[in-house]
Amino acid sequence: MFHLEEIKKVLQAEQKFRLRQALKAIYQQGIESWDELSVFSKDLREKLKKDISLEIKAKSYETSDKKTIKVVFDFGKNIEAVLMCHQGRNTVCVSTQIGCSMACDFCYSGKFGLERNLSEDEIILQVLYFNRLLKKENSRVSNVVFMGMGEPFANYNNVLGAIKILNDKELFNIGARHISVSTSGLVPGIKKLAKEKLQINLSVSLHASSDEVRDKIMPINKTYNIDTLLEATRNYIKQTRRRVMIEYVMLAGINDSPKDANELTKLLKEKLGDLFFVNIIKYNSTGEYESSPKNKIEVFKRILIDEGIDVVERYRFGKDIKAACGQLAKEENKK
Ligand code: SF4
Repeated sequence: MFHLEEIKKVLQAEQKFRLRQALKAIYQQGIESWDELSVFSKDLREKLKKDISLEIKAKSYETSDKKTIKVVFDFGKNIEAVLMCHQGRNTVCVSTQIGCSMACDFCYSGKFGLERNLSEDEIILQVLYFNRLLKKENSRVSNVVFMGMGEPFANYNNVLGAIKILNDKELFNIGARHISVSTSGLVPGIKKLAKEKLQINLSVSLHASSDEVRDKIMPINKTYNIDTLLEATRNYIKQTRRRVMIEYVMLAGINDSPKDANELTKLLKEKLGDLFFVNIIKYNSTGEYESSPKNKIEVFKRILIDEGIDVVERYRFGKDIKAACGQLAKEENKK
């Protein structure tokens, strides 16, 4: 895999604009060989070819309906990203870490701890890979969500660096409003992001309406409990005037009763005011937990809607390619 630093090194003796030209060609035009960079002299192209391969090592898996493509990248260890083509949008869900230290009990990635942070380049390469695929159909990535393996705010600087490249008009040109970062509740990250003056979207994984339940399924709650998390979220909303998405995964018998729905409604209204909406997520079972049945999800949603809360339900993309977070990469690592 190539790194920005290597390209900078090869081009350091050249005029400054050459680096920008190279980056535009790689990120915006999606070139896969230095031969395609015709504005460079033959000598310079040969030099780059000798030192830096533009190949991205990855394996793709497509769902039967061809709407979801899951890709496992070889960054020393495997990580995964998913492309979801839906309602005219091409959304890529990227990973930010190899493994994760947050240890959410319902999550496959959380079972194995953190191996390392991904670099800015490694995050960007995930989007670039899909842009190259979509280019063949005259299309491109329209949205990026930081919801794959890892906690984005535990790798804050690299995630922010990647967002700036994705948002750069001359590079990926993905609008800030089409980029979303999802946190398990790392409060210092929420506070920091509020000061960045970016127009990106924030999602907060709440998944419970009481500390008792959240303590059990998300250990981070013992450091930043629901009160602290929602206080930081409210301040974020106040500072940015951006609507926040509250994520709630439906786990059978754990957090899916009408009582849970009523408590959630009360909590969110009391703590957040009205600039938020709730994303109800159907769970992709990993064995220990089961997804709530459809009728229970409907009752839960109805309670929220009747109380005036905006609710969306994320589609269950790619069940036949193991779209539960981290599952596929771990299986590839075992091989
Ligand atoms: S759900 Fe997200 S934050 Fe929690 S362990 Fe999994 S990858 Fe980490």
